[in-house]
Amino acid sequence: MVDKTLEQILLKKFNYRTFRPGQEEAILAALQSQDSLVMLPTGSGKSICYQLPGYMKEGLVVIVSPLLSLMQDQVEKLKANGERQVAALNSLSSRAEKNRIFKQLHLLKFLYISPEMIQFDFLMQRLKQLKIALFVVDEAHCISQWGMDFRPDYLKMGEIRRKLNNPTTMALTATATESVRNEIKESLHMNHEETQEIIHSVDRKAIKLKVAICDGNKKERLTELVNQLKGAGVIYFSSKKLADEIAETLRTDHGLKAESYHSDLTVDDKVKVQQQFIDNTIQLICATSAFGMGIDKPDIRFVIHYHMPANPEMYLQEIGRCSRDGKEGIAILLFEAGDQYLQMRLQENALPDESLLNYIYKNNLKIKAEQADPKVQIGQFYVNAEIPYNVALYQIQNREKLKQNQLDYMLKYVYHTGCKRAFLLHYFDEAVMNKPANCCSSCDPSLEQHFFSEDIERTNKNTEKLDWKTRFKQLYKIDEESMN
Ligand SMILES: [Zn+2]
Repeated sequence: MVDKTLEQILLKKFNYRTFRPGQEEAILAALQSQDSLVMLPTGSGKSICYQLPGYMKEGLVVIVSPLLSLMQDQVEKLKANGERQVAALNSLSSRAEKNRIFKQLHLLKFLYISPEMIQFDFLMQRLKQLKIALFVVDEAHCISQWGMDFRPDYLKMGEIRRKLNNPTTMALTATATESVRNEIKESLHMNHEETQEIIHSVDRKAIKLKVAICDGNKKERLTELVNQLKGAGVIYFSSKKLADEIAETLRTDHGLKAESYHSDLTVDDKVKVQQQFIDNTIQLICATSAFGMGIDKPDIRFVIHYHMPANPEMYLQEIGRCSRDGKEGIAILLFEAGDQYLQMRLQENALPDESLLNYIYKNNLKIKAEQADPKVQIGQFYVNAEIPYNVALYQIQNREKLKQNQLDYMLKYVYHTGCKRAFLLHYFDEAVMNKPANCCSSCDPSLEQHFFSEDIERTNKNTEKLDWKTRFKQLYKIDEESMN
């Protein structure tokens, strides 16, 4: 039963007529001051879940977000919708800006803040004096996902929440298995029984799934594909260097409008590339996983992975940028035997080994600002939290096993001959309901051809590929005689 008042506010403030699945339940939980864990697929309008109740409740909505681009993006969107009482506090804010926001904190409706910034004592003191309508932890799976974006600071949000006197909390995520969801609740000190879980399927039926196993010809397969696929696309790489190189090749050798995007770009360049991609001046983005959070381009038609991602969560998150407009798109994973070792190497560099952890504990190394090495950072986190050495070691070793299992699952996904969609959903304890047409490369071996440019001209999708003479004739309506 849709609440009419809520719908009126939805129209007035956000210019939408109807709620998307899950939104209304999340809003109602917030309005009833009930803690919630909300899992909605990427692109399903998660921000409305906390912004709308923000307008109906007295007090400030604090949104902790791990990603700066996402924060900026949300602030700009709210401002464009006429909201003036919104600000973001993070490492990009200038000192003057911080001071200004700090002084006007009591006037704000929405405060976006990085997990590092919210820990500052003076800020916490001020926040404690204010009425907090809702405490939102965005991308909550980062609490558990000790991967590339891991920040020890995210694990402190439970403590922050307690210091703020346990305000109504909403943990938001797009992809989390049941065990990760439990970990989120535990870490945020949310009551297991009383927290409302609003879980929607991670399955995005508009996105068709293909795995292409290559045999020493991955680059060729990639260029072939991007020359044929229609619409805008993102190609994900695990290496910045390769992202640069391939973008260059696609531009110079194939005349494609391609740019690379990764953490070495300046903020200005990032914004420029994003904007050009959104208005279709750029057709292809060669990116590392730094790209995509908060990018609201509805008509991305394909996402290609040049390297296999570390886990199904990350894969789903990244392909989720495809087809936000609900029209069909394709996710293609290019795989070459041995690719898994690249991920293994990357993972080895993510967690401290026994001797490093031992060294950090012996020397009682504590966290200092701007630590470079994430491995050291993780060790220091445990020292800071005064967790005994043996417990820390046990947890880190468990973490390593978990990561290995996740990578194994990706590898099995690659070689799985049954339905790829069913296999991927199984990881999230889900089954396929109403299998879509052209589901995956196991269900339809010539899947990608539905997404090739020639398709537009073909009247019958099942026609065999025509030779050049016939196509030429069709195009120019030339009859047989004049060709010979
Ligand atoms: Zn399938």
